[in-house]
Formats: sequence, C-alpha cells, structure tokens
Amino acid sequence: MEFKLTEEQEMLQEMAHDFAEKSVAPRAADIDKNGEFPQDLFDTMTEMGFTGLCIPEEYGGSGGDDIGKAIVVEEIAKKCASTAGTLSVHMVCPSILLKFGSEEQKKKYLPKLANGCLGAFALTEPGAGSDAGSARTTAILDEATGEYVINGTKCFITGGARAQYIALIALTQPEKKIKGMSCIIVEKGTPGFTIGKVEDKMGLHGSETAELVFDNCRVPKENLIGEEGKGFNYAMIALDGARIGIAAQAVGIAEGALEASIEYAHQRIQFGKPIAALQGIQWYLADMATKTEAAKWLTYYAAYRKSAGLPHTKEAAMAKLNASENARYVTNLALQIHGGYGYMRDYPIERMYRDAKITEIYEGTSEIHKVVISRALLK
Ligand SMILES: Cc1cc2nc3c(=O)[nH]c(=O)nc-3n(C[C@H](O)[C@H](O)[C@H](O)COP(=O)(O)OP(=O)(O)OC[C@H]3O[C@@H](n4cnc5c(N)ncnc54)[C@H](O)[C@@H]3O)c2cc1C
Repeated sequence: MEFKLTEEQEMLQEMAHDFAEKSVAPRAADIDKNGEFPQDLFDTMTEMGFTGLCIPEEYGGSGGDDIGKAIVVEEIAKKCASTAGTLSVHMVCPSILLKFGSEEQKKKYLPKLANGCLGAFALTEPGAGSDAGSARTTAILDEATGEYVINGTKCFITGGARAQYIALIALTQPEKKIKGMSCIIVEKGTPGFTIGKVEDKMGLHGSETAELVFDNCRVPKENLIGEEGKGFNYAMIALDGARIGIAAQAVGIAEGALEASIEYAHQRIQFGKPIAALQGIQWYLADMATKTEAAKWLTYYAAYRKSAGLPHTKEAAMAKLNASENARYVTNLALQIHGGYGYMRDYPIERMYRDAKITEIYEGTSEIHKVVISRALLK
C-alpha cells in the first residue's frame, strides 16, 4: 500500500492550488455576494484542462483519473465551493456519455464538453427527489418523425440555466416505470425546452440551480444514450462517481475552514495572548484536522476504486456521507473559533458554513447514503 500521489496527480494538485489561490480566492466573496456564475473562472478551468479531466485525449479531453479529478475539486473548494461544485457537477454529463454513449455521440459531444460547453444532469423533479424512480417526465418516441417528444419539469438542476448539453432522465415507456426510464441528451435552445425558476439559495450562490421545463420538446432519437429502459441504471452509476466529486468538494470546504481557523487563532488576541494558546481552541483544531484527514483519505480511496475499475458504490456513499457531515462539523467549529467575526460577511467562514450544508443534500442526501451503505452491508 502506498499513500502517495503519482507525479501527474501532484502536478494537477499544484496547478489547481495555484489557480485557487491566485484566481478563485480573490473572487469568492463577490461571487457569493452577487450570486454571479463565474464564467471567466469556468473558461480558465477549460483552458487548464480541468473541465476535460477523465475525458480521454482522443475525445478532446485531458485524460487523467478520478483521483486527479477529486484533488482538483478539493483544491478549488478550499477557496470557493461554488466554483468547485460547478466543475464537479459539470463532469456528470460527460461521464455518462463516456460510459454509455455510442462512438458517434462521444465524438460529437465530448470534445465540446471538455472545451468550454457546460454540461448538466437532470434527474430530480418536484415530486421525485430521493425517490428518483418516481419521476414523471416523459419522452415518447414519435415513430413518424423519429423524434422523442419530451414533456415534464425537472428541478434543482445545477448549471441547468446555461448548460449547452443536458443528460436528461425521462420515461420512454411510462408503463414500465423505473424500467421504462432512458437517458437522452437535450441541447440548449431546442424548441419546447425553457428555463423556469432559477433558485435563490442559502449558499453555493455562484452555482446556478434551475428548473427545466419541457413542453412538447422534440429531440432526434439519435440523442438516446445507450439503451432504452436503462436510464435509471445509468443515472445510479453516474451518481456513484458524482458522489466522489461532492465528497472532494466537502473535504476542500473543511480544509479551507481549518486553514482560516488556524490563521485566525494565531492573530486573535484575548486575555493577552493569541487564542491559539488556549487549550479549548487547540482541541477544536485537533478534532477538525483529524476528521478532515480521515474524510480526505476515504474520498481518495473511493476515487482509487473507481479509477481501478473496482466496485465503488458503497465506498462513494461512505466518502460523501462522512465528508459532508465533516464539512458541516468543521465549518461550525471554524465559525465558533472566529467568534462574532465569524458571523460577519467580512470573513469567509459564514460563507463556508452555508456552502457546506449543500454537500449533505445534493447528489443524494445523507439518509439516502445510509440506505445505500446498509444495503451493501446486508446483501
Ligand atoms: C443546490 C442543489 C443542486 C442540485 N443539483 C441537482 C442536479 O444537478 N441534478 C439533479 O437531478 N438534482 C439536483 N439536485 C436535487 C438533489 O439531488 C435533491 O434535492 C436530493 O436528492 C433530495 O431530494 P429532495 O430535495 O426532493 O428531498 P426529499 O427526497 O423530499 O427528502 C426529504 C427528506 O426525507 C429524507 N428521506 C427521503 N427518502 C428517505 C429514505 N428512504 N430513508 C430515509 N430518509 C429519507 C431525505 O433524506 C430528506 O431528509 C440539487 C439540489 C440542490 C438543493
């Protein structure tokens, strides 16, 4: 066993760290305050090859493995959870195409998704969240025209308002329920597809979360990914990978909060000495660091298993469950260490505290992860 990054992973870590320090950190507070999608940062991530990670070079990507991808998301999340979240969720759409798409689809979409076009993944509906199998959006094949006609509403879709390509889960055979679900690529601007409400959220303000409305939206049947009726399976497999990304985001948030807390503890003087000299504060920091290190290695382990082609459903769920609960725990203590200043917008901690919460909810809630883990244990 070797607890060591490869040279390539170390290089990626350094690049992502530099980008986060120099380009992301100075923008993070404004992105949060103005609810601004950081298009320029997304463009830079494209130039740096981050949006094409895990997409092979033959399809215009930058290659690499899931550990490298997790490390990049983690480094960026230390400074801005929104930018990291956008990157992580963007990668779900190409991951589905790569695993289940035809050669023609890979050649058509992957170079674009790796090089500037944002991707989204649309599963959730107003009446179907954790119970995604009860989704009601339909995509019925019109044999006469060879098009799927899509009707329904998806909600809470990350990047949905500006994504060029959306991997949509819809019922192609409604009577078969889950077994009648398929995955279809929908392009921005297709007639009958409009953006509904863009959500006003507690945190993650730089990541747009939108409702997608389909009203007799027609897409060619060539947009079907893989086989009809396999969409729910594809979605669950994609979520296994996506959860590693959110675990990495949560690890990054916790690391960012820990770093800020150490710095603050050295600077803040009370009772004539830095609060870092108080054992109560030292113990907070020790707990935060220990739990975050554990969350990081569980996340890397899940990423390693995915990269190695090993089963990783349970490990991805464990990594995300643990890392997201830790991000909430660590940002809470970080805010406590900052005292009243932590509650103020002048410091990044209150943003990190708000941003951390989402990691316990999206790409499956903590409760659903416990269902996934216990199912694997008891099978
Ligand atoms: C900011 C944001 C971005 C998102 N991005 C995307 C996206 O890009 N694509 C997408 O498809 N979706 C996205 N989602 C949706 C997200 O995945 C869902 O919100 C999540 O899966 C929970 O569904 P729900 O909100 O309907 O909650 P519900 O399913 O209604 O859950 C409510 C509560 O009941 C609990 N619960 C439900 N079922 C069980 C069970 N079996 N056992 C125990 N407890 C249970 C839940 O854990 C939760 O505590 C996003 C959500 C948010 C908030």
